[in-house]
Amino acid sequence: MIGVRPNILAMSGYIPGEQLNDPDIIKLNTNENPYPPSPRVFEAVQAALTCDKLRKYPQPLGNTFRRAAGQVLGIDPDSILIGNGSDDILTILTRTFVPEGGRIVSPTPSYILYRSLAEIQGAQFETVRFGDDWTLPRPWPKPGADLTFLPNPNSPSGTALTVTELDRMVGEVGGMLVLDEAYADFCDWNGLALATTYRNVIVTRSFSKAYSLAGIRFGFAVAPPELVRELLKVKDSYNCDVLSLAAATAAIEDQEYFHSVRAKILATRERMRLALQDFGFAVTPSHSNFLWCRRTDQAVKPIYEELKRRKMLVRYMNYDGYDGLRISVGTDREIDALLRGIHEILELVKT
Ligand SMILES: *Cc1c(COP(=O)(O)O)cnc(C)c1O
Repeated sequence: MIGVRPNILAMSGYIPGEQLNDPDIIKLNTNENPYPPSPRVFEAVQAALTCDKLRKYPQPLGNTFRRAAGQVLGIDPDSILIGNGSDDILTILTRTFVPEGGRIVSPTPSYILYRSLAEIQGAQFETVRFGDDWTLPRPWPKPGADLTFLPNPNSPSGTALTVTELDRMVGEVGGMLVLDEAYADFCDWNGLALATTYRNVIVTRSFSKAYSLAGIRFGFAVAPPELVRELLKVKDSYNCDVLSLAAATAAIEDQEYFHSVRAKILATRERMRLALQDFGFAVTPSHSNFLWCRRTDQAVKPIYEELKRRKMLVRYMNYDGYDGLRISVGTDREIDALLRGIHEILELVKT
């Protein structure tokens, strides 16, 4: 292909989870929130739909959002960088910290986008295997990378390192440590204080999961203000539009709604975990809005396929032969349907 860089030609490209357009489908494959966003989000987006707002460029730094988020999180607004989804933030971080031929490290099995970011950048990508109980080896075996991505809670496992473990890692990784906290809203702790304490820690957050705004594309990073100033040079000038800024600001300001949705998801998660265990799955205890389910007695891919035939979409994941189903926590009705479906499928296999 004329002119295309060899590293781009050589890469296969990140494949996002399936997005089927069928409204009847029960969609439990990409960890979206099954509940609607706060009613205040709709009001804010409506209010932003004026000729003047649409005609003009949005706030380049998202200062209104930064003030609101700074207040809610108890941090300096200047330590916040806005992004067009947290994936945009991960791209900005890669472009800022990783030279061509540089090194990116992340644990595995984990979020597969990090590899694509390294490939686009022309950087080496190295992984550190999680132990059987989803712990990481100590001391950290690959220190000194330009960027170390650590999703916490992790996907697909839903497990989370404790703040003490994270703190220890900061000292061991050497280079920049990015705590990808797309799912931290579902966990009882997070690493935010590390990003406001250490100069080499950046936390990223997403509005796609806990805030029910995957369609609007908004995320942010928390980093020392002097780092944020450098990151601002790399991001697109207007990387977030007026509607997403209005939506995200309204969403983070409505913490009461956020906590009510979160509580429902955690309750359903526990019910789901117990039921799936009763069906014979090995279910990893989750600090996230999904469950990682495996079986030793039969293949799980046929279960995924049969569920899909019944219009229930879960994520089948296979990491070099280590496979399982990653199932998002849906509404109680969706999960009832899922459990009925799985029960029937397992009965069919028996006979
Ligand atoms: C969903 C997800 C993201 C991406 O979030 P967006 O804000 O939708 O870009 C980032 N990291 C992990 C681990 C995720 O699961």
